Amino acid sequence: MTFTRSTRPITSHFTYEGKELSPTSKYTYLGIEINNRGLFKDGISALNHKALKAIFKIRSLTNQGYFPVQTHLKLFHSLVKPILTYNSDIWLMDLDQKRMLGMARASKKNKPYDLLDSIETTCFERTHTRFLKYTLGVYKSSSSNAARLEMGELPLEFFMKLQSVKNWHRIMSMDDTLVKESLLCAIKLHQNNTYSWATFIQNVLDSIGSNLKVHDPSPISKPFHLLNISSYLEKYYTQICLNSLSSPTGKKAGEGNKLHTYARVKKSCNFEDYLTWIPNFDKRHALTKLRISDHRLPIETGRYVGTPPDQRYCYFCPTIVGDEYHFIMKCPSFSSARVEITQSCTENLTDYTSLNSNAKFESILSARSQPVAKALANFCISGFNIVNQVRGSKGK
Ligand SMILES: [Zn+2]
Repeated sequence: MTFTRSTRPITSHFTYEGKELSPTSKYTYLGIEINNRGLFKDGISALNHKALKAIFKIRSLTNQGYFPVQTHLKLFHSLVKPILTYNSDIWLMDLDQKRMLGMARASKKNKPYDLLDSIETTCFERTHTRFLKYTLGVYKSSSSNAARLEMGELPLEFFMKLQSVKNWHRIMSMDDTLVKESLLCAIKLHQNNTYSWATFIQNVLDSIGSNLKVHDPSPISKPFHLLNISSYLEKYYTQICLNSLSSPTGKKAGEGNKLHTYARVKKSCNFEDYLTWIPNFDKRHALTKLRISDHRLPIETGRYVGTPPDQRYCYFCPTIVGDEYHFIMKCPSFSSARVEITQSCTENLTDYTSLNSNAKFESILSARSQPVAKALANFCISGFNIVNQVRGSKGK
């Protein structure tokens, strides 16, 4: 294989013991495929394909409804993640370079660059969120960001970048070896403004606000500073995910942020306790659907037909917006289903009766108390049934 920047392969002749070697445009080295342009694109797709096979196997051996959510997560992290992230400390640089070009293009056009969108378009992140959505029992089209946050998961990039920095530090701490010599060459390329693996590592260090330089790892003394880097990277990705929740607009102009209500109760990236408290799959996934707006209340169905957010009226109250607040707190059509929630909140939440309606709504939807979470899940089951009946009768 002859490396070239051109898309047209170079014709070259190599012989070994008098025999001509056939040229190739790609080669698998140490389990990862690299092409003659020095890119890992096909290798990343191949890993993703293998990871999907592992997921199908897990799905065929487990039961979505009866397996605890945490067991599903454990299976993903021990059986799928190692495949998806294999050698990623090296190949993630391909995506970093692509992102740098995207950012430069956006800045030239004076347009904002959507970092979360760029993260979520990669095949490995999609495979990750696809598994999370399957575990939660929500639609494939539901928000990937919300599915991750609900289960306390960060994008896989977090783990991959941490591995990359650890690898860089490990190599720099070596005595003279071939691999260290290669890294020193990459550092020279970086210093001469040519993108290399060292540029990628420098970008990771810069992104977390560190003043570390790729040519000088001496300020990092294990284990304290590496732990610091891990915690900074964690904060960096948590912030990207949470910031996206509080954005005032959705993907299309004028449609409003789908996760506007979720943002009111989701303030950190932690695994939600109700996922363990409610073992019944139907009830648990009804509650998840309500929290992450993966439901069929008018505030969501209106989005599909382009109705402005302030005109997405309740199926029963023609002048009131049919959002999550109206569904849980006000709509008279669900009053009998609401009795259990009110009773549970009064008994289990301190000072509940003295709160205003908005604060009551947030304390219910945040599902921080087991009895309240269970009551809300029951409410979702009966409420969504009523909604489905009326939608069916109106042909919506
Ligand atoms: Zn109503």
